[in-house]
Amino acid sequence: MSYLVLARKWRPKKFAEVVGQQHVLRALINGLDQDRLHHAFLFAGTRGVGKTTLARIFAKSLNCEQGISSTPCGECNSCVEVDNGRFVDLIEVDAASRTKVDDTRELLDNVQYAPSRGRYKVYLIDEVHMLSTSSFNALLKTLEEPPPHVKFLFATTDPQKLPVTILSRCLQFNLRRLDIKQISDHLAFILQQENIDFEAEALNQIAFAADGSMRDALSLLDQAIAFSGGKVTTEIVSQMLGSVSQQQLVQLLEALAAKDAKSLLIYIDELASLGRDFVVVLDGLMTSLQRIATIQLIADTESLDQQDDAALQNLANVFSAETVQLLYQIALHGKRDMPYAADPRSGFEMTLLRMLSFQPQAVTFNAGQPPVKKSQANSESAPVSAAVSSSVEPAATYSPPSGSTVTHSTKAEPESAEPPPSAPAKLEVKEPPPVEPESHSIVVTNTSTEVQPKETAHSNSDDASQLLNLTTANWTALIAQLKLSAFARQLADHCAYLRSDKNKIYLSVASELQHLANDKSVAKLQAAVSKQLQFEVTLVFTETTDTENVPTLAAERAQQAAELQQNAVDAIHNDPVVEQIKNAFNARIIDTTIKPL
Ligand SMILES: [Zn+2]
Repeated sequence: MSYLVLARKWRPKKFAEVVGQQHVLRALINGLDQDRLHHAFLFAGTRGVGKTTLARIFAKSLNCEQGISSTPCGECNSCVEVDNGRFVDLIEVDAASRTKVDDTRELLDNVQYAPSRGRYKVYLIDEVHMLSTSSFNALLKTLEEPPPHVKFLFATTDPQKLPVTILSRCLQFNLRRLDIKQISDHLAFILQQENIDFEAEALNQIAFAADGSMRDALSLLDQAIAFSGGKVTTEIVSQMLGSVSQQQLVQLLEALAAKDAKSLLIYIDELASLGRDFVVVLDGLMTSLQRIATIQLIADTESLDQQDDAALQNLANVFSAETVQLLYQIALHGKRDMPYAADPRSGFEMTLLRMLSFQPQAVTFNAGQPPVKKSQANSESAPVSAAVSSSVEPAATYSPPSGSTVTHSTKAEPESAEPPPSAPAKLEVKEPPPVEPESHSIVVTNTSTEVQPKETAHSNSDDASQLLNLTTANWTALIAQLKLSAFARQLADHCAYLRSDKNKIYLSVASELQHLANDKSVAKLQAAVSKQLQFEVTLVFTETTDTENVPTLAAERAQQAAELQQNAVDAIHNDPVVEQIKNAFNARIIDTTIKPL
């Protein structure tokens, strides 16, 4: 018994079996069911996305002996003949091999004749852009006045090469490349039907290598089945493709996260002995980093691909977003420089060592040993990391899920993402302490400057003494605590405390900002201050021209902001890692882009 390759055996026979291309299917199905069919369709798309398949199902739908519908019976003579590629009224032409005008003429001469078996003649002209200009002209005449019994399906990988006169007479569809999930799901379905065991990751690798083409994926799967003689495993597929498994990539990334140079070199050695293509490995690393970056951005992990498994999610917690970007960039540069390296392995090794040395802070983790928490030991360097958020990640300890090695397999239970009970928390990121000492902060916690709300049932003399406690310093603190509307907030931020007398508080506003002290804003501010002090006060505003020495909240904040900015700039300029990066990439610091936290 001859073996039928999967691509032919599992070629969809109904529209419902076609994977992807829903937009094209909908147009064809609606057209067929409502009997409103265009006479010429143009399918643009790469190879192996289903052009011939669509044409065949289309031909069946039109010629099925049960009648025209989007669901041909599949059993009548016409349907069977189409399925077997023997239907005389489905004419498949490869334009790439028949570019001459004579070929086209010969083809089009026959267009006039009625179909010999069915209702319609269906012409599938593949690679239609390869036709010569005169062929196009011959074709155009037919397209202008098509015989009623003819349908044209044109397929092309390069629709831009088609004359507009042809394009304008076709209904054009772009066939999309299939995504990895569509392909791997379909492969899984076929293997289940064929009773062949498989690992999901193996199918993902095939899907990735197939680059959007189902036909390529199926022939790779054929190859893998022949190669494996039973079960399609990740190992077999990796060997076959020279590709690298997700688990191997995760190992590399975990060694990077742990700054574990020894393990890193061992893994590289393993990859070399398995004969992996190091450019492919770098590609894989970049894909993984891109997925990690996505996980970091999308907190809602439900919406993520199933394959973004526990290991990648864990790495997303360990690496800072900036580090992921940096590693990606280094990988990209490494790939570009690969041809100049002495050999691929050393190029790859240097790239990974560069990733290792540019990771700003040490994280202690050795495979097989309990992770050592280092966050406490690193606390003295933490203030720098707070200021230099753009390049330094917080200290973190890391341990992979499920013990020392990460297991990544199709059978991974959700629980495997959890660390074993004995292990320490799988991630501990130390919150960087604020750069500024507490005394500079705006929220008042220091009792010496705090304005205590007055207890109820105090006498008037107490109220007066309470007011006398107001100073320029605690006035701004009081103001900062108020909840105000935008205009009243402007007034509050820009007024300075002068003195208080009984229930009157005297404030000054710079003359150029006098307009802020309108009746409405003053009333609002007065109400807010009274509420905060639990004591009715009257605000009295006076004008001042001395804008330099007015201790307003706005001025205070501006000064704080300037100090913070200067601290951040200093921290960046004094940071050894930034210095390394500057030297390595011949980079310079743009001070205006530095932002304090
Ligand atoms: Zn039929």
